[in-house]
Amino acid sequence: MRTVQASPRVRIAPSPTGYFHVGTGRTALFNWMFARREGGTFVLRIEDTDTARNRPEHVEGILSSLRWLGLDWDEGPYLQSERGELYRSAISALVERGAVYACDCTTAQIQQRARERGGPPGYDGFCRDRGLDAGDSLMLRFKTPREGTLQFMDLVRGDPTFPLAAIEDFGVRKSNGEPLFILANVVDDADMAITHVVRGEDHTSNTPKYALLWEALGYGELPVFAHLPLINNAQGKKLSKRRDKVAVEDFRDDGYLAEAMVNYLALLGWSPGDDREILGLDEMVEAFRLEDVKSAPAIFDERKLAAVNSHYLRGLPEAEFVERSQEWLRSRWAPLAPLVQERVRTFAEVYTMADFAYRPEPVVDQVEWRKAVRKNAKFGEVLEAAIETLSVATWDVEGIHQALSSAGEKVGVANLRDAQAPVRLAVMGRPVGPPLMEGIEVLGRDRTLSRLRSGQVRLHEESPTG
Ligand code: GLU
Repeated sequence: MRTVQASPRVRIAPSPTGYFHVGTGRTALFNWMFARREGGTFVLRIEDTDTARNRPEHVEGILSSLRWLGLDWDEGPYLQSERGELYRSAISALVERGAVYACDCTTAQIQQRARERGGPPGYDGFCRDRGLDAGDSLMLRFKTPREGTLQFMDLVRGDPTFPLAAIEDFGVRKSNGEPLFILANVVDDADMAITHVVRGEDHTSNTPKYALLWEALGYGELPVFAHLPLINNAQGKKLSKRRDKVAVEDFRDDGYLAEAMVNYLALLGWSPGDDREILGLDEMVEAFRLEDVKSAPAIFDERKLAAVNSHYLRGLPEAEFVERSQEWLRSRWAPLAPLVQERVRTFAEVYTMADFAYRPEPVVDQVEWRKAVRKNAKFGEVLEAAIETLSVATWDVEGIHQALSSAGEKVGVANLRDAQAPVRLAVMGRPVGPPLMEGIEVLGRDRTLSRLRSGQVRLHEESPTG
């Protein structure tokens, strides 16, 4: 058995290009448990080198999700965008050592070659050193040796061996001078003295490149790796943000407890080795070993998560249950209250004005629904067009208004009210209620779109041929 170094250093290194994914939450948790168990250090690094895709609100989302889950970090957040000097000097060192070459192949050339010679779309493995001057304005590629094999230590998947011939001359710097992901990733792990790289299996194919760069930069002994298994949905398909609910924030907003979420995430690819399924943080830290992580894909099943959550809810002392459920209700209520205040005569009327925002799906008034479907021949088309325009709308009242107007225009419904009625019924369930655009804004894009889709399904089920 391998011994763990005296004081391991691990990191979570998310890219702020989208919502904080449950997979990232699981990776963060496994790093955190390992660090806590071994008396190590858990570093937070934001990998924001892809300037075209980063969003500051996603950095905020990373921090707040980690805080909500209770995964406190010991160092950071370090931002790669503030560490350019380090990457530039590593690139200079690679140029000096002759480890990289300049490449002027365009994307179009690369794609055509992939088509002609047979390779996955965009495969850049046919690029070769043609002795171009490195200068400042060309992409730099790593000169991968063509022969031999490369092996690294992986605590989860044995120690995989890769033939070097299968590894392309991968890019390390873009033609605009920005470092590519793999370079910044390696330079930072070395600079931050990371001893264990615990990350998702989707990065396994990057690891041979990582190892080549690490060696070329003279960093010494390679960190130990642990590639965590993929996470599939309950149907066995890879968890995808298009199809599945994957943002940690969404589970928080839907009323899950952080301790239940953490407990469930811990079981995605790991178990304490007995049949315990309910474990507090202390018990998890006590039992956690990277060597016990399984390599088979894990299944993320929201129904199981809900079962774990209900266990935790039932276990709360009554006063705490009251307090925490009120806190959740208040967080839903705050943005809604001003919309409702104008439209009620008594508090008792608040409920029917606001329930749409609390329920997973609205309660649809069947009579009103059928009446509206009969009256409006384009009911289904309106829903379809609204899904399209709201998917890309700017998420404020003005943007939502524009999206619904253009949905109406698209299907040739002149009167904005006719365009709005199907949307209102699908989203809120009733023809009356808080103002539509404001209500939709509060509900958020994902929930709105999912309700419109349920509306389509309902419509289809009622008249399967129509
Ligand atoms: N930034 C990478 C990601 O978000 C993680 C890289 C790593 O953990 O090495 O997928």
